[in-house]
Amino acid sequence: MEYLPLCMQLTGQPVLLVGGGVVAVRKARLLLRAGAQLSVVAPVICDEMRELVHAHNSQWKSAGYQAEDLAGVRLVVAATNDANVNLQVSGDASERGIPVNVVDAPELCSVIFPAIVDRNPMLVAISSSGRSPVLARALRRNIEAMLPAALGRLADFAGAQRDLVKEALPEESSRRLFWEQVLESNVAELVLAGREEEALASLRESLRDSAVLKQGEVYLIGAGPGDPDLLTFKAARLLQRADVVLYDRLVNPVIVDMARRDAERIYVGKRRAEHTLPQDEINRLLVDLAKSGKRVVRLKGGDPFVFGRGGEEIDLLARENIPFQVVPGITAANGAACYAGIPLTHRDHAQSVRFVAGYLKGNKVEHDWTQFQSTTETLVFYMGLVGLPVICEQLMAHGRSPETPAALVERATLPEQRVLTGSLVTLPGIVAREEPSAPTLLIIGGVVNLHASLSWFSPDA
Ligand code: SAH
Repeated sequence: MEYLPLCMQLTGQPVLLVGGGVVAVRKARLLLRAGAQLSVVAPVICDEMRELVHAHNSQWKSAGYQAEDLAGVRLVVAATNDANVNLQVSGDASERGIPVNVVDAPELCSVIFPAIVDRNPMLVAISSSGRSPVLARALRRNIEAMLPAALGRLADFAGAQRDLVKEALPEESSRRLFWEQVLESNVAELVLAGREEEALASLRESLRDSAVLKQGEVYLIGAGPGDPDLLTFKAARLLQRADVVLYDRLVNPVIVDMARRDAERIYVGKRRAEHTLPQDEINRLLVDLAKSGKRVVRLKGGDPFVFGRGGEEIDLLARENIPFQVVPGITAANGAACYAGIPLTHRDHAQSVRFVAGYLKGNKVEHDWTQFQSTTETLVFYMGLVGLPVICEQLMAHGRSPETPAALVERATLPEQRVLTGSLVTLPGIVAREEPSAPTLLIIGGVVNLHASLSWFSPDA
């Protein structure tokens, strides 16, 4: 190890920053975030530095650096583009035993800045020992994505309840075990969701009965329309926690693979007319698994609450008193719209958008077709591939112009995405000829005309 990482308490401590350009500004921001009492020495400073100095009541000495500027200083940072000045600062500081950092010159530094992930009070610092700051920053991006934004709340919560737990569990090893379980439990999830009071109630209960911490729970997660990059951070994090994952056909297998290697995976259907597990059996399975103490992820294509029957699945969980969370996903309409360059609303074309179920019941799509008359509303039909000719025909029969633009987006957001465009009168023929495969989404309205100019990735453009 070439450097020992230490966290330096700088609140109210005098820190000298030599330099007034953009690089110095970056360091100034960081030092001010840590509460340092900042003095800047530089003949001239940029506007941004001027604003910072003003906003934080810092000092600026408009002059060249001199050794006497180091008097009383706890840390000095040199960020000038003058190699001589940097060298001098480094030498003077070393002589006086003051920690010194010279930006981009590790050989002149006694301390170096790591890349940080800040979830105050939690901090993650990453250092390449001065070798490759770019690599350290790349690693930081990965860690940044892994850590919940509210991780700091969890640290604060644990800090605030330390005494309570210490009193209840005087013995060190059982206390440590308890905390390990708490941080993996629903208590932690409650804190991350900003519900500290409920978390505290649950913590108190688990101090009386530790079985509470081992209770199972269910996460109903929207996996988005297909592209795995469209998963939310929260979905990815909870997937990592799952003991069991239930998924259906619409969920990209790459996403199912993101669960822990040892997590059990259960396929529960459903293809059109091939319901692998009936809905009430899925609901029951979720309850049974959670009751046996498992953390269960139920992955749904798109968003769980848009044609996802998510409501039914959690209804039983609520009645059985099982903790659950619902995590939104990008619904197919949003994914298809963005990836196909068809805005769902647009000041000139559509002031509202409607998501409609397009499946057939006994060869009929059951709707009051008179409600789809507005030419300034975008219509999006889910599950409408088989019913497409009927949908187009009914819309025309109830007054929509045959020229109304219409698009069928096949396998939206995936590399195989295709967009077939036409009008209410031509699209059924185009679809019959092109034979797209499910899943597909039907978008109807003036906004479809924008596809030609707004799509950046569209094999048919
Ligand atoms: N809960 C899902 C919808 C489930 S209903 C969501 O919010 O997206 C299933 C229908 O969604 C399919 O019949 C199809 O119309 C649509 N769909 C889902 N993924 C799609 C995709 N990648 N491309 C096009 N349509 C999709």
